[in-house]
Amino acid sequence: MSDPSLPARSVPDLPLSGRCFCGAVTFAVAEPPSGVIACHCHDCQQMHGTYNPMAAVPRGALSVSGEALVWFASSAKARRGFCGRCGSRLFKDNLGSDRVLVSMGSFDGSTGLRLLRNIWTESKGDWYDLPAEEPPRA
Ligand SMILES: [Zn+2]
Repeated sequence: MSDPSLPARSVPDLPLSGRCFCGAVTFAVAEPPSGVIACHCHDCQQMHGTYNPMAAVPRGALSVSGEALVWFASSAKARRGFCGRCGSRLFKDNLGSDRVLVSMGSFDGSTGLRLLRNIWTESKGDWYDLPAEEPPRA
């Protein structure tokens, strides 16, 4: 049974789609991500200008198009994918993971997703409050 006190959750059609600001890089997600993880680490804040809400997408469900996509090795364990033309930060790829993290702001329209978890909260900025987590509904 769904909780009547919570607003109805829209379930968008698959695949979800998205793009960078200029449109040179586009992507599609063929399976629904489980939800959103907001990373408050210093690396994400420097790269995105603020904390970084991302959806964990199964690697095989993500297809990306556009020769403007550039990968930057942000550490020995992760690389960041961004548009080399407009600079939009689209992906974080933790090497060896079966999922790729996709920036929530890059999706087209509604995603039907909710914030499941804040991570690296000890390094969050002092100028904002943590966004509310909303665990998956039964
Ligand atoms: Zn672009």
